[in-house]
Amino acid sequence: MKIIIAKDAGYCFGVRDAVSLAYDTAQEYGDVYMLGHIVHNENVVRDLDQAGAKVVKKLDDVPDAKPILFRAHGTATHVWDKAQKKEMNIIDATCPLVKDIHNEVRMLEKEGRNIIIIGDHGHDEVVGIASQVENPIIIATPDEAQKLRKMKKAGVVSQSTQTIENVQEIINILMTKVFDLRFVNTICFPTKRNQQQLKDLSEKCDVMIVIGSFTSANSMRLTQLAKERNERSYQVTCADDLDRNWFKDTDVVGVSAGASTPDNIIEEVTVRIKSFTKTLEEELVYE
Ligand code: SF4
Repeated sequence: MKIIIAKDAGYCFGVRDAVSLAYDTAQEYGDVYMLGHIVHNENVVRDLDQAGAKVVKKLDDVPDAKPILFRAHGTATHVWDKAQKKEMNIIDATCPLVKDIHNEVRMLEKEGRNIIIIGDHGHDEVVGIASQVENPIIIATPDEAQKLRKMKKAGVVSQSTQTIENVQEIINILMTKVFDLRFVNTICFPTKRNQQQLKDLSEKCDVMIVIGSFTSANSMRLTQLAKERNERSYQVTCADDLDRNWFKDTDVVGVSAGASTPDNIIEEVTVRIKSFTKTLEEELVYE
């Protein structure tokens, strides 16, 4: 059996940098606080908590003089304003590519356009993007796009981790609804790369394993893309979720992972898959 691991599987640079900043800040100040989990991964969250990076529900729960870390996928403007007013020590881990989306959406608004954001309702990144402008419309699915009223002028951006397929389908519908439509493709390049490698691998391999939390929209989307191309695709959160029966009569296994999956879990899953076969030919990295 051969195992092929997608080269860009797992942490994107935005998440990787934010996680290291959380560890570094906790070490420097004793502890650091975050409004929600930094990644959708239970093991990482537990380890960070032990290192002193704690999760709180609101700014008022942060002890005096302790730093607040704003996470990679961005923070709503009213939260920024409040933290600045309270003169809190803000550690900004916002991914530069998320900041780009904030800038793009503000520019589209300046052009006098209605703003449409393609993204998951209630997702922190989408909430952060929406807070940059007045009354944006959030669309998650083609069905929701169908229900949109006709309008003269609109500007569209997308959440960084959307699939190209979902965005394309929604844009096709918006073209029938909006006279003057401007779309800025803000799916980030690590997401595009990860999705493309996963699609290629799913077609090449007998079995496709996607590692990621079931609470991560990004990992769920990767699994959906894999299943559309290979019915022997499975999502797991860790090595213990693997079932050796999946690998019967299998020559090639592909492995990919969502942007919130740390390297050690990818390694553990790969080692466990290897243990299911006595005849591992080779382990390759797919670019
Ligand atoms: S998914 Fe893309 S935009 Fe989001 S943190 Fe990672 S690199 Fe940045």
